Parts: sequence; structure tokens; C-alpha cells
Amino acid sequence: MPLGLLAVASALDRGRFDPRIIDARLESRPHERLLAAVVPGTVCVGMSVLTGAPLGDALAAARTLKQKHPALPIVWGGWHPSLFPTACVAEPVVDYAIVGQGELAFAELVARLADGHAAQPLAGCAWRDAQGRPQLGPPRPAQDIGTLPAPDYELLDVEAYFALKGRRQLDLVASQGCYWRCAFCADPAVYRRGWSGLDPTVLAASAGALADRHGFTDLAFLDETFFTHVERALAFAALWSRRAQPITWTATLRADQGERLTDSQMAVLARSRLRRVLVGVEAGSQAMLDWLQKDIRLAQVMGTAEKLRRHGIAADFPFIVGLPGESEASVDASLAWARRLRSMSPAFQTPIFFYRPYPGSPITRAAEAAGCRLPDSLEAWADFDLFGPGPWVAPSLGRRVAREAFYLRQAWDPPPGRWKLPLRRLARYRLAHHAYGLPFEWQLARWLGHRSELH
Ligand code: SF4
Repeated sequence: MPLGLLAVASALDRGRFDPRIIDARLESRPHERLLAAVVPGTVCVGMSVLTGAPLGDALAAARTLKQKHPALPIVWGGWHPSLFPTACVAEPVVDYAIVGQGELAFAELVARLADGHAAQPLAGCAWRDAQGRPQLGPPRPAQDIGTLPAPDYELLDVEAYFALKGRRQLDLVASQGCYWRCAFCADPAVYRRGWSGLDPTVLAASAGALADRHGFTDLAFLDETFFTHVERALAFAALWSRRAQPITWTATLRADQGERLTDSQMAVLARSRLRRVLVGVEAGSQAMLDWLQKDIRLAQVMGTAEKLRRHGIAADFPFIVGLPGESEASVDASLAWARRLRSMSPAFQTPIFFYRPYPGSPITRAAEAAGCRLPDSLEAWADFDLFGPGPWVAPSLGRRVAREAFYLRQAWDPPPGRWKLPLRRLARYRLAHHAYGLPFEWQLARWLGHRSELH
């Protein structure tokens, strides 16, 4: 669900403004829909912009709009503009870029545009001056999420998202930011290691009202770190388990947080129908975890996994491999941990990602300083492949990791068709004994088009 757009639209002065959210994923002709939505009195068009292909989509949409409505202000927000605000407004079709938490900055900008006042300078916003030079306003301190207007889901076609997801699952954000400092992550640069979360009573009441209104059966918290304050998470769980109609939920959990949870606390979470958590592992060697500044220990990962298994809670344990300068031994250690966790429970997944230098993170800055060239234009960032191996990854290593990911899926992904059982046994044998000779099933799958993509 487009939670960023929902948050900024909900924070507008709703007595004055009538925001419309258009999601290209739900539209057969998104540009036509966008042009049709621009009517006399339209104040501006805001776009949520993520690095990679979505950036290319936003550029194309902005150019289409400007061609027909040259004077219509276009405002970008989201991760890419937060990291590169002045580069965004250097592009003629982008008039403003909002940096970081956008609710209040966007509301203020829209009010100024509607009033015909000078829209700049504005804290937390970039623009072009009269000479066309990009300018950046002072930083805007992030507000506590509890003081911001609640997202108004009536602005979304919620049923269309249930259909898109294939399940009646509502996405919700209960906190913003993160206290930690992982060196591959852009969050610390954008939220400056600040965090704020909704009060658990308010959260349970508002999520309950949304459940009554929309009839969903699963609630997905898309917070960076839902369990930042464990008492808050447990208070929500206790309230959620009192619902007459039980609703499952999912959230994010760090391994250090999971390890600190006692068995009785885990039982409270399981009773509240916490069905799945995402626990970022990232690497299988302590040296690499320390270099990544993940601030967890592998023993904490195992402690968390064992507790989750005991209490019947499923988990995703993602890994990142192929970091600049990473040794094969380090990659092997990560693959070994992925195998170990995957074999602990059919409810555990271990997706493996190749590292790509997402802008704004310390590792990316270090890679740049070491001579790694990053895209230098919006078009180049739009073409940036966020999923494949980096050019520094040897092709043989890339193939080996892809093969491992394929066999991990073959070995444990439920449900196996009866005819797949021998393949499953073979995959488990291969993983256990590192026996990858004559990988006919992998080659056959690739030939059939089921490429062994990494997760
Ligand atoms: S990876 Fe997660 S825990 Fe680490 S800084 Fe980013 S949001 Fe925080």
C-alpha cells in the first residue's frame, strides 16, 4: 500500500484540500488517469520516488504532466529525493523535493502554493531559485509520529490492494525511524537515528477500527524496527489478543531484541497471533556483521530463531552477500547460516540479496571514495539495478550464490508436489554435502525459464 502518499495526503488541511491518490499499479493507463485528475484548482502533484525503476516512472509521469500543464507545481518526496534533494530539483520538471519526514513540510508547501505565497524558503524542502539554481532549506526536525494526523485509509481503494496482494492484509506503520546505524542502510541518514512510535493503546484502537471498517484478516506492520521498545510491542499484543475476531499480524524484529524476549513474552506474542517476523541477519560471520555495524551477534540470531520455532512464529532471515571487497569465505559463511536457519523450520525463509550500493549509506560513501562510480543523473539512477550482483562480484561467485539460493528453495519451499519429492531430497543432499556436480535440475529450471533469481 502507498503508505508514504497516504501519510502526506492525510496531513493536509482537509477542510481546504481534497487530495486524490493515484497508484500506477492499479491503473491500466496511469498517465491518462493522472492527466484526467488535474482539474482547475489543482494545487500541485506530489510523487513518492524510490531509487531504481520507480524513479524512471516518476520522471516519465512528471514530464507528461509538465508537457500539458507547464505551470503545475510538481513535488517529489520519498527516499531518493530525501537523499538527493538538490539533484532532483535540478531536473526542470521537478519543482520541489521534500526531505525526510514529509507530512508537515508537504502540508505547509501545499498551503503556501494555494495561498499564492512564496513557497520558499521552506524547512525540509529543496527548490530552484529565480536563476534556476537548486536551493535547499534548513533541515526540519522530525515530529513524533503520535502528533501527526492518522492515515485516512478512505483515501485508498483498500479492496483493490487486497486484490493486488491476494489476501485481505492491511499495511500499517506504527513507528518512524530507527536508533541503529547499519552501514548499508539509508535510514540513519534520513531519520538521523531518531525514532518515534504510536502509543500501544492508540495503535490497537486505530488498527481495530480499521479492521472493523475493512474486514482484513492480517495486519502487516512495515516499521523499520517494530520492537524498538519491547514493552510497547507487548502492550499492543496484549490488547490485540482481546479482539473478538482474531487477526494475525507481522512485524520487524532485530535479533538482539528477539534474544532479550523471554519465553513468556514470546507466548504473549504468539497468543496475539503474531504469525511472522522479519529478522535481518545480513551476514554469517561476526567480522562481517561488525564491519556492517549491525550491532548484533550470531548467537543472538540463533537464540531468536530457537525461540520463534518453539512458539510457532514464522520468520524471514534475509542475508546480503557480494559486498565490495567481501571474501569468498565470508560469502560461504553467510550461505552456511542461511542453510542452518532454513533447515530449522519449514516456516523459516532465508532470502539472499546481492549488495547494491543504495545511496546515502556509509558503505556506499566508502565505495565511492575507493573509486566505485555511482550514477550521476536521475536517468542513470532510474536504470540502476538494485538486485543483481555488483560489478565487483566475480561471475563465478554470482553463479554459485544463485545456485545456492535455488537449492535452498527446492529443499524447503512448501508445498512440494508429489513429483517434486525426489528433487527436494536431492536438493537437501546437495546442500548438506556440498555436492553440486551435474546440477541438471538447476539447469533445467533455468532452461524452462524459472531462473534461479535471488530473493
Ligand atoms: S537496517 Fe534496520 S536496524 Fe539497521 S539501521 Fe536500517 S532500519 Fe535500522
